[in-house]
Amino acid sequence: MQNPPNDGTKQSASRMNGAFPSTPHAPSPESVSAPPSPDTYLREAIEMAVQNVTTGQGGPFAALVVEDDEIIGRGTNVVTTLNDPTAHAEVTAIRRACDAQNDFELTGCTLYATCEPCPMCLGAAYWARLDRVYYAATREDAAAAGFDDDHIYEELTKPPEDRRIPMTQQLGEEAQRPFEAWRDYEERVEY
Ligand code: ZN
Repeated sequence: MQNPPNDGTKQSASRMNGAFPSTPHAPSPESVSAPPSPDTYLREAIEMAVQNVTTGQGGPFAALVVEDDEIIGRGTNVVTTLNDPTAHAEVTAIRRACDAQNDFELTGCTLYATCEPCPMCLGAAYWARLDRVYYAATREDAAAAGFDDDHIYEELTKPPEDRRIPMTQQLGEEAQRPFEAWRDYEERVEY
């Protein structure tokens, strides 16, 4: 069925589905007129998060990036399958949305996450310049499930030298060179 005879109608696409002559994905008039609510997107993300766990893909988290009632990026937590500690659901969704948009900013977009973003994902939301974030479970819920990021939030309030991972500053003068190069580079892409 690679090349069904072209009868000039849209029937050919549904015929390629074989057993289902009536297209199962045809939107009803109701679904077209009523835009999805935040709860709708959060429920979809929650379902993705459950599937992520039961299929062994990673942690119990999922996220969606939505622009104008269209999902442009989906992500689940794939830290353990990708061996990538940054592959949280929100970061994954943001990366995919940016890929889809061929842009490094998501202004005008909303992030829906099954859980309150951790400090890294919160930072990613700001860097992506998202308009808004909706989340379902709280940090406290995540901590009760064994995903406690409170210690990272606490680290942010400490001076660098007092943090659990020692942070030492040196070569500050020499490190001005990259900034000077940036200022002098006329073709720089501001972000
Ligand atoms: Zn995160």
